[in-house]
Amino acid sequence: MSAPGFVRDDVAAGLDEIGGLRLEWAVACNVGSVREANEDGALVRPGTYLLADGMGGHDCGEVASEIALDVLSRVDTGGEQDATREAVDALLVEAQDKIGDVDTSSERRAGTTATGAVLIERDGSPHWLVFNIGDSRTYCVRDGVLEQVTVDHSQVQEFVDAGMMTPEQARVDARRNVITRALGGGMEPPRADFFVFATEPGDQLMLCSDGLTGELPDPEIADILADAETAQDAVDNLVEGALALGGHDNITVVLVRVAAGDAADDNTGDDDAVDDNTGADEAGGDEAGGDEKTDADA
Ligand code: MN
Repeated sequence: MSAPGFVRDDVAAGLDEIGGLRLEWAVACNVGSVREANEDGALVRPGTYLLADGMGGHDCGEVASEIALDVLSRVDTGGEQDATREAVDALLVEAQDKIGDVDTSSERRAGTTATGAVLIERDGSPHWLVFNIGDSRTYCVRDGVLEQVTVDHSQVQEFVDAGMMTPEQARVDARRNVITRALGGGMEPPRADFFVFATEPGDQLMLCSDGLTGELPDPEIADILADAETAQDAVDNLVEGALALGGHDNITVVLVRVAAGDAADDNTGDDDAVDDNTGADEAGGDEAGGDEKTDADA
């Protein structure tokens, strides 16, 4: 029995109207062409968009990712930044404890990545609080430019940070699956990175597992996002694109397209999303946390 809003081996789409914003979202979660089990999952609640990529094999990874999504889905949306961040941190600890309780018949332990975007309020206007552990990513398209918000916790990312590898070399390197942070039993206490930026009409927020980015280079992802008419078309086309290149891993995409709500009958001011808060915040440029992003736990 899965939590409300949980998606695996399926597609889903909807419209959330919150705080003067219209958030058109869609999810596609596909097992791919090679793997037998789908250890990815996604979960959408109004104002909360989550994705996890489990590991550990059958009966481990799929359980771990679903536990993480179930626990994280309890975060409140629309709260203040610090309180929401603390809530996410506490839920990550709870998720890790529950994953640690999963009985594994094999030698491998259950674990999972997690990334998510939670709508919060900062200085009276809506913002995204984005977090990640592992190599599942959140991107933002603003003014037609696709920007990766999160930074992978992976061995190849450390090579990139050290100037030993380009991002494109890292994308196809044989060591790309080695991640340096995850949620799971026997692992270090969970340590997520957090990013905060304004929720701007016209933006597209995309969460994805490495089954997408391992197949499709960012420029192709950007083209697909730019060409799609609806969020549902976009996630369908992204999954199709990854499958066409081999679908070597499970592929999951969550897309949220932000539009201004119908402000005509909204005179409260507080809920008006189209305040003058443009320009100051750039996606990914405003890290809320003090974490050293290049630190490795493993
Ligand atoms: Mn994966």
